[in-house]
Amino acid sequence: MSEIAISITSLHKNYANGFHALKGVSFNVNKGDFFALLGPNGAGKSTTIGILCGLVTKTSGSASINGYCITDHIAEAKAQLGIVPQEFNFNIFEPCHQIMINQAGYYGVSRSVAISRTKVLFDQLGLTDKANVAAGTLSGGLKRRLMIARSLVHHPKILILDEPTAGVDISLRRSMWHFLKEKNQEGLTIILTTHYLEEAEQLCKNIAIINHGELITNTTMKQLLNQLNSEIFILDCSQLPVQLPHIENISMSAKESSTLEIEVPKTHTISQIIHQLQAHDIIVNRIQTKANRLEELFIRLVGAPS
Ligand code: ADP
Repeated sequence: MSEIAISITSLHKNYANGFHALKGVSFNVNKGDFFALLGPNGAGKSTTIGILCGLVTKTSGSASINGYCITDHIAEAKAQLGIVPQEFNFNIFEPCHQIMINQAGYYGVSRSVAISRTKVLFDQLGLTDKANVAAGTLSGGLKRRLMIARSLVHHPKILILDEPTAGVDISLRRSMWHFLKEKNQEGLTIILTTHYLEEAEQLCKNIAIINHGELITNTTMKQLLNQLNSEIFILDCSQLPVQLPHIENISMSAKESSTLEIEVPKTHTISQIIHQLQAHDIIVNRIQTKANRLEELFIRLVGAPS
């Protein structure tokens, strides 16, 4: 049996207005992976996901899901997938548990099985006391959880999440990460698009970055982060001299009277730098990284947002 969950080969999409949104994208996602599909706005992520889900028709190329070709075996291919789209797309007047049962029915799951699965998922996602509440009355974060619960009710092998934590506060986001990590450990293959690069860095083992409809990187998260030869730190110091000292291989600039921005190559440790600064009577009180490492790389690869 193939170890590849999703295989995408030379995928092209020309929209009706002539826009060439995907220009021959190819990558694989292995079974059991936690995979990040990243790229700036308009890169082609949702188009790629839309093609996999059967919502967008590809212009050319091929894709298969757990070995089922999306052209020849779309029903089997779709049955493998759970999808959490960017936009809430449930009936806001329907009670949450009914949304789950309807979705399960759509995939041929019996009502009794759907009820017991809903109980488990609502319990895991903190939705139990909302089971009989109309979905439209939930907070944004709980709506997001309902979307995740609904995507899993037919027990898909692969879960695709398109910006699942957009607009979700940090504590809810972290509890979602915890839930998704557990599901992944149980064997669920997860593909995630997100704007929170910290999220991708923490969760994902492998990564593809697309930009302007082209694949620009497809590697392990570890290898990608290793490409970063330096890291930028913001140092909160007691005070800075008018003339900053020269420390070999370190570029530094004063941002305010007591804030120093320094770029530290991988060959140096931050404690070495702190000692060297101390030797020049610069006492470091606090340190923070300027951006998380993936963010830094992302900006270098695709450019800062305009
Ligand atoms: P992402 O999800 O990475 O933000 P999308 O896949 O949504 O990117 O969009 C890729 C590009 O295709 C964008 O420039 C977008 O404007 C364009 N696009 C998306 N949908 C359509 C459509 N239905 N018709 C024409 N252009 C579209």
